[in-house]
Amino acid sequence: MSRDLTKEEQGKFADMYGAGLTCVACGNNDVSIKIWEKFGTDAAQVGGDIGPSGIIGAIVACDLCGNAETIDRGRLLKAG
Ligand SMILES: [Zn+2]
Repeated sequence: MSRDLTKEEQGKFADMYGAGLTCVACGNNDVSIKIWEKFGTDAAQVGGDIGPSGIIGAIVACDLCGNAETIDRGRLLKAG
């Protein structure tokens, strides 16, 4: 299952992984972050653990140009 992070969670995500505040393609600040939670964690709920132990992947998608940046498992783990 996946879900989009809230605006508040986007800030936390950006702090942790260094991505998610601006589009890497056009610099637009309106992005959506979709996360896939790890089985058995509470990351599917708002306020849940979106750290490297809570999610298995994420995509940062630009609301303006549609560019999508994949944050893969390796990058998640590096941040942890
Ligand atoms: Zn963009």
